[in-house]
Amino acid sequence: MQIAMVSEHASPLAALGNVDAGGQNLHVAELSVALCQKGHAVTVYTRRDDPSLPARIRTPAGYDVVHVPAGPWEPIPRDELLDHMPEFGDWLHRRWSRSAPDSAPDIVHGHFWMSGLACLRGAAGLGIPVTETFHALGVVKRRHQGSADTSPANRLDLERTLSQRVDRILATCSDELFELARMGAPHDRMSVVPCGVDLQRFTADAVSADAPAPQRRMPHRIIAVGRLVPRKGFDIAIAALRHLPTAELVIAGGPRPEELDQDEEGSRLLRIARRQGVADRVHVTGQIPREHMPALLCSADVVACTPWYEPFGIVPLEAMASGVPVIAAAVGGLTDTVVDGVTGTLVPPQDPNALAEAARELLADEALRHSCGAAGRRRVASRYSWNRIAADTQRIYHRVLAPSEEPNEKVAAL
Ligand code: UDP
Repeated sequence: MQIAMVSEHASPLAALGNVDAGGQNLHVAELSVALCQKGHAVTVYTRRDDPSLPARIRTPAGYDVVHVPAGPWEPIPRDELLDHMPEFGDWLHRRWSRSAPDSAPDIVHGHFWMSGLACLRGAAGLGIPVTETFHALGVVKRRHQGSADTSPANRLDLERTLSQRVDRILATCSDELFELARMGAPHDRMSVVPCGVDLQRFTADAVSADAPAPQRRMPHRIIAVGRLVPRKGFDIAIAALRHLPTAELVIAGGPRPEELDQDEEGSRLLRIARRQGVADRVHVTGQIPREHMPALLCSADVVACTPWYEPFGIVPLEAMASGVPVIAAAVGGLTDTVVDGVTGTLVPPQDPNALAEAARELLADEALRHSCGAAGRRRVASRYSWNRIAADTQRIYHRVLAPSEEPNEKVAAL
């Protein structure tokens, strides 16, 4: 099958951890690799944001990345990209109309709502079905961020329209299904296909010879990972540290370490740490290259994920694959992935005391940490390998391409 992935802002080739580069970039990259391994031809279309990028690159994993000229060839914040989506979609349309029949895509898969719009425009009139993974929903962002939400004003309306026009929606978690249903998305065109984790890369004995994890300065280590944005809730973990005198907190993510002191959120977190009297036990590392993340996670006794909201959250899967218990806020995808009392603990969101209590219990009990870590590894191995996610995705593609061969399934959860 010829598969076109469209990921307007999130290139699978980008370094992760920056404000606009995280789980989506990784998802598109890993899913593309896993689909290639199943014998499909995958091309990822992403916006050209640098003049030095080649028009097309064949990655070592076998998928192609095409840099689409849409808007200036420079970085543009994600929330300012909407105006360039018509150009993006028209470019795709010209490309796919001109393609020889054997190189036009059989199916298009949009990632994030703006890509979905470009996909509909690109595939219009060509008989190519469009599938969509939203990765995040505007309605959730608006609910939590209120006036701080910089998304285009018409995002909610456009997402609603998109959800009704695509041939199939791949929601990444059950919480998203319910959100989509409330938006009026058609029940019989939605499925849950979560994100995955690389089980070979993230293991309980990962080490990194050239970049060992930072030296431990306290008996216990808690790690939090993600883009340095307020909604990731790193301040919750900092506040919890006051009640955990044996623990240090490593916060990994953000810009490159040398640019960290100009980072607004990084500086805010350090100010909070000073105010809480825990600055000597908080280490903000800046961006951790992908290849060094497994060893870092292995150095943790506990991984804390305390976002205000989380469309999916790949970090908990990486921690579980590394055999580390996860304490997670009970929001979004985290309620699907983390099993309370089995692979870690679910706590109410934005509650440092609850986080501290859960961490105290785990840090005091090594056997409990081991059993939660082992259960986490078993859970991701059975449900969240990229091979399995690709198989689920492939099944959806087949269903869209040949609906009459599939039973008319409704989403069971609804
Ligand atoms: N990540 C990384 N280096 C960093 C920060 C994050 O490689 O410095 C990776 C992290 O390991 C995970 C992804 O970025 O694979 C973040 O995905 P997640 O779904 O947790 O959050 P998102 O960024 O999508 O909100």
